[in-house]
Amino acid sequence: ESVVNRIAAGEIIHRPSNALKELIENSLDAGASSISIAVKDGGMKVLQIQDNGHGIRTEDLPIVCERFTTSKLREYEDLSTIQTYGFRGEALASISHVSHLSITTKQADSECAYKATYADGKLVPAKPGGSSAPEPCAGNNGTILTAEDLFYNIRSRKDALKNIRDEYTRIFEVASRYAIHNSGTAFTCRKLGAPKADLNTLHGASTITNIRQVFGAKISNSLVEIQHKDQELQAEFKGHVSSAAHEMHKSVFLLFINHRLVDHSPIKRAIESLYTSVLPKGSRPFVYLDLRIKPEDVDVNVHPTKREVRFLNEDIIIAQIIDCIHNKLLSTNN
Ligand code: ADP
Ligand code: MG
Repeated sequence: ESVVNRIAAGEIIHRPSNALKELIENSLDAGASSISIAVKDGGMKVLQIQDNGHGIRTEDLPIVCERFTTSKLREYEDLSTIQTYGFRGEALASISHVSHLSITTKQADSECAYKATYADGKLVPAKPGGSSAPEPCAGNNGTILTAEDLFYNIRSRKDALKNIRDEYTRIFEVASRYAIHNSGTAFTCRKLGAPKADLNTLHGASTITNIRQVFGAKISNSLVEIQHKDQELQAEFKGHVSSAAHEMHKSVFLLFINHRLVDHSPIKRAIESLYTSVLPKGSRPFVYLDLRIKPEDVDVNVHPTKREVRFLNEDIIIAQIIDCIHNKLLSTNN
């Protein structure tokens, strides 16, 4: 049974960066205004995330890593109107099957924090021969989640993820994109032991300030703002897009649909061909797009491994995005 679970878990958690995405979403779901990420060996040795969110109830600790355990469907009868990222209760379970996982958590009304250690979905003793019950300890309000030795029990996966720098780049990419989009949450991301964080955004900073933090002033200064609202479809978008040829050698898309970081090939293709036709040859788009669509028009039930989403009236909305960017490019380049 544990081998089957492990294989299933490996299908959900492919690499450190997609474990991190799940963990960031949990911290955001917990209302965190601060999220700190620390990484060793591209997240393969250590992937740690600390938040100041509402924490986990002590009585929930024994079950949070069991499959399909979620606290997020309590208030929602209808999945299509759910406001949280999570609802499946698969992420922690999966991570516990493919790493050594520990959780330290404290709720504001609790006198102390509790530390719990997991293997294969269940509580285990922190040290051999000890008790598996969560141990009281000192700690701040919020949650620290540490996944160590990712894929220690899936040899083939571990072997396939040998490029530690590449894994760190992916981690940084996920963290920085969520940081840019969530201006109400301060983010840091660092390599364990490094003197300086690679990412350091402030609570309440504007989107453009966060973009400058991550991509530099040259990029952020070349951006113009777009905004549009469609009353009838109840869809709206805003964003920052590059207005002139810039030095990026590849296109950069930061695409959020109802706050989820997603891929959407048709949107990307349409924007790329717009830039090719309007700007000097070789110009690549930099696009941050915050698209909000009626929740019931978006397919939220996509599998966690799929970043590609679908929504209703795609053609109309894509045409509006292209129109909006096109007008902006024409007015700024003339
Ligand atoms: P889901 O997010 O789909 O509910 P997860 O496996 O990601 O499932 O998490 C399981 C449960 O653990 C969540 O429903 C939540 O109650 C709790 N949890 C996980 N991470 C945190 C966190 N950082 N802060 C507070 N609660 C958390
Ligand atoms: Mg989750």
